[in-house]
Amino acid sequence: LPRIAIIGNGQLGRMLRQAGAPMGIEVLPCDPNLDAPIELKPDDVITVEQELWPDTARTRQLTAHPGFVNARATQVIRDRLSEKSLLDHLKVGTAPWCNVTPDHTTEHLALVGDKLVIKRRQGGYDGRGQWRWQQGEPALDEWLGECIAEKMIPFDEEVSLVGARGHDGKCVFYPLTLNLHQQGILHASVGGLKRLQSLQATAEEWLTRIMVELDYVGVMAMECFVVDGTLLVNELAPRVHNSGHWTQAGANPSQFQLHLRAVADLPLFTPAVDGLSVMWNLLGRDWSTDWLSVPGCDVHWYEKEIRPGRKVGHVNLHRASVDDLQTSINQLATLLPEDDRSPLLWALQEIQ
Ligand code: ATP
Ligand code: MG
Ligand code: MG
Repeated sequence: LPRIAIIGNGQLGRMLRQAGAPMGIEVLPCDPNLDAPIELKPDDVITVEQELWPDTARTRQLTAHPGFVNARATQVIRDRLSEKSLLDHLKVGTAPWCNVTPDHTTEHLALVGDKLVIKRRQGGYDGRGQWRWQQGEPALDEWLGECIAEKMIPFDEEVSLVGARGHDGKCVFYPLTLNLHQQGILHASVGGLKRLQSLQATAEEWLTRIMVELDYVGVMAMECFVVDGTLLVNELAPRVHNSGHWTQAGANPSQFQLHLRAVADLPLFTPAVDGLSVMWNLLGRDWSTDWLSVPGCDVHWYEKEIRPGRKVGHVNLHRASVDDLQTSINQLATLLPEDDRSPLLWALQEIQ
């Protein structure tokens, strides 16, 4: 089995390492900020947990290694301009958009829509690096030449598709996940919702098209808006994704195991999913051991310093039936201060 080196050493790398442990697959998360080179073996596989990294001796070494997979995909996806151009080229539905050039005027923006989301092309995450603009507001003076403008989509809900492609081209997928974002940050997801099945085929077809075009290997996530029962792709992530964390409890293999299988050229099959799962992100808050008294409750703690709004862990709730999951959600909610309950109450409503 090859060793898997990861560009990045955050929680995604940590959970990839945990997923490799049972099979004895060594996973080596690498801090991209360090200049000290690491010792790599010729048959190591190099993959990423982030799209963008600083230019350091270490990242130069990792990306120059012949085992680095998905060089093109990470390059295309890290820049919203090339990412959205790819979606257009592949005729995958997306919000109307334009590049914001250095000489852009409000007239140019008006062609895209009345209400817009301006997004920095590179480096944004958790809703950072974007702001809202509408007709009548002054022209942009900041970030000209560094952004795209997207029409604000009055979506009904947000879903994501997590899938994987193997070295042999085989693609497999989880069922669509329902996501709750607030202020641009993912707060909770529901995995295994039957009512999303009607969108599954289109979503799989689109993500297959994208992964084939990029000759991608590994797990990729596709975030979408649902508008009047149709999908629009918001963005892509060439890696394991927060909206796939529920698969640790509700699917076999999990997205982390699936990614390792794909990049290590091990057999891929459509993951088995049973019951229903809810993932709740721990944002800038500690957890409590009494949550473990709730049936089906698992806590994943990233051992990071708690700072306001920072993702420091997540909770998975997995039960076999809707009734059981409702019971567990209610039980966990009562253990929380009232202000913290809203993502769980959202999930409770969505699974009814
Ligand atoms: P992530 O942490 O998922 O990488 P990000 O910072 O890259 O987030 P986006 O996913 O582009 O940002 O946007 C964050 C959220 O903002 C979306 O999930 C959605 O709720 C909202 N949003 C983004 N673009 C639009 C749009 N065009 N119309 C309406 N809402 C939008
Ligand atoms: Mg993003
Ligand atoms: Mg996003």
